[in-house]
Amino acid sequence: MSEAQLIDGKAQAALLRERVAAETAVLMREHGVKPGLAVVLVGDDPASQIYVRNKGEMTLEAGMHSVTIRLPAETTQDELLGVVARLNADEAIHGILVQFPVPPQIDPAVIQSAIDPDKDVDGLSPVNAGRLALGLPALTACTPVGCVMLLKGALGTLRGRHAVVVGRSNLVGKPIAQLLLQADCTVTMAHSRTVDLPSVTRLGDILVAAAGRPEMVRGDWIKPGATVIDVGINRVAGEAGKTKLVGDVHFAEAVQVAGRITPVPGGVGPMTIACLLRNTLTAAKLRQS
Ligand code: NAD
Repeated sequence: MSEAQLIDGKAQAALLRERVAAETAVLMREHGVKPGLAVVLVGDDPASQIYVRNKGEMTLEAGMHSVTIRLPAETTQDELLGVVARLNADEAIHGILVQFPVPPQIDPAVIQSAIDPDKDVDGLSPVNAGRLALGLPALTACTPVGCVMLLKGALGTLRGRHAVVVGRSNLVGKPIAQLLLQADCTVTMAHSRTVDLPSVTRLGDILVAAAGRPEMVRGDWIKPGATVIDVGINRVAGEAGKTKLVGDVHFAEAVQVAGRITPVPGGVGPMTIACLLRNTLTAAKLRQS
C-alpha cells in the first residue's frame, strides 16, 4: 500500500491568514473598524512566551491591532479579573485571550467565565461552549475549528463518516466532537477510561488523536485508508541530547496505513493561530453590525 497523503496545515493556515487579512482591510476601509486582539500572559512559562509572541506578530501581519499584556507569576486572581474587566470595556479590543496554563492561585474556569462572550475568541466560556452544543452560532475554540477545516479540505463533505475522537477535554476533544456532529459524522468519543482503545480507533474513517500521549496511536490502531488528524504536541527526547516535537500518533507507522494524515509539526498547530485571527475578525464584524 502506498504512503498516506500529507495534509499540509502550514499551507492551509497561510491561505486562511491571507483571507483574514484581506477581509480585515475591507472592514477597515468600509466601516473604519480595526479588529483588536488582546493576549494576556501570566508568568514566564517558556512555551507560552513563544505562543504569545507568535500570536502578536501574526495579529499585526493580518493588519489588526495587537495588545500583549504580560503579568508577573504572582498575579492574584482578582488582579487578573481586573485586567479582563478593563479589556471587556475597551472599545478597541474585539478579542481577548488569556494564555493557559495560568499559575495555580488562578482558577481558569473563573477567568473564562469573566471574559465577555462576544470577545471570547478562545471559545471556552460557558456561553460559547453551550451555544456550540446547541448548534447555535458561537465563537468556537480555535484548534477544533482548525481540525475540521483540515478535514473538509481533505475530504470535502464529512457526511455519514464515522469519526473517532480520542480525548474529551473542554479545549479540544469535546468541541471537535460537536463540530463533527454538526458536519453529519457519526461520532465516537474515546478517552482514558475506554476499554480496548485500539478496537475503537480502528472503527474510524476519521481518527482525531487529542490525548496528549506521545506516539500512543500505533499503525495497527488505524483503519486502512482512514484520515488521521494528530492534535498532540509533545516535546520528547531526540537525538544528541536535543528534544523534538511528536504528536499523539506514531507517524512512521501511521503513514503506512492511513489514507491522509497531518504531520507534527506543520499540521494542526498552524491552523490554531489562523483560526484565532478568524475569530477576532468575526467578533469585530459582529460588534460592527
Ligand atoms: P488534556 O490533558 O486536557 O486532555 C487529554 C484527554 O485525553 C483527556 O480527555 C483524557 O481522557 C484523554 N486521554 C489521556 N490519556 C489517554 C489514554 N491513554 N488513552 C485514551 N485517552 C486518553 O489535553 P488537551 O488540552 O485536550 O490536549 C491534547 C493534546 O493536544 C496535547 O498534546 C496538547 O498539547 C495538544 N494541543 C494541541 C493544540 C494545537 O494547536 N495543535 C492545541 C491544544 C492542545
